[in-house]
Amino acid sequence: MQTIKTNFYWIVAFLIFSGGCTKPKLIEINSERLLKNIKIISNDSLEGRAFSSIGNNKTQKIIIANFTKIGLQTTKNQKFIQEFPYTFKGKKRQETFPIRKPKRNFSNVPDTTVIGGNVIGVLKGEINKSIVITAHFDHLGIKGGKIFNGADDNASGVAALFEIAEYFKKKPTKHHLILAALDAKEIGSLGAEFFLKNYNEKENIILNINLDMIAHSDYDPELFVCGLFHNPNLRKPLEKIKSNQIDLLFGHDEPKNKEQSDWTFSSDHKVFHKENIPFIYFGVEDHKDYHRHTDNYASINPDFYIEAVKIIIQAIENFDKFLID
Ligand SMILES: [Zn+2]
Repeated sequence: MQTIKTNFYWIVAFLIFSGGCTKPKLIEINSERLLKNIKIISNDSLEGRAFSSIGNNKTQKIIIANFTKIGLQTTKNQKFIQEFPYTFKGKKRQETFPIRKPKRNFSNVPDTTVIGGNVIGVLKGEINKSIVITAHFDHLGIKGGKIFNGADDNASGVAALFEIAEYFKKKPTKHHLILAALDAKEIGSLGAEFFLKNYNEKENIILNINLDMIAHSDYDPELFVCGLFHNPNLRKPLEKIKSNQIDLLFGHDEPKNKEQSDWTFSSDHKVFHKENIPFIYFGVEDHKDYHRHTDNYASINPDFYIEAVKIIIQAIENFDKFLID
């Protein structure tokens, strides 16, 4: 009798663990490498990665080295780097490259043209349609003698791009994946604008997935998906995502919702939205370290970040299947 009872318990236990509960989908990534990369990109040596600074230039080289190592392809210009000029004028010129004794209307402040650079890598799919995954790598530089490392904003998105690329290199998608590390977001999404303006098959971009601040969670582990208000048909692939550790919340995209700020125009995805390309933006709520020098590696939440990247990979996989039909 005892044996029968014991067997019965084993059978019940087996049923519970095998099918009774829905297991989150297992996405394997190299978490150590992810954390190592966010640490490198938010290191003091890159001096806050301000647009057109030496640290920004060094960051471009780090991204190119990673894209090369992973084995991504280049776009048609045969290079990972996509350079673009930008001319600082008047007040903006004075804020960035101050002269002594500027006139009130900045009439004595000369224009200065600098070169910025996006870094674009490609994983070819089977059909001629693309999902563009974006993450800006520039940040605020040095202010008041303090380095703004921007670990969450947005070393987190860039290091995630590498892990996404590694994952889909081994598990190819049907759509082309364009991995775009974008420059000059903090001064008005100039990199995103240049990228899209010069993309010669714009009609083949079916989706932009933008990553900006995905590693910091002070209270409840919550990651937001913004964009469904504008593109409600994209809901299903996101509803299929499973996670035991993070609440994936939909919102921050309704202009008339007074309880939640609207993030539709808060990052590079706005450039795609303005061109009527559907976007999905992943990000966290503004936090105590947002746009402060304390947004550094020590203040991110590693477990949250690792899980967020797994969620985003699930989303890409689900969209890749869903958007074929
Ligand atoms: Zn940002």
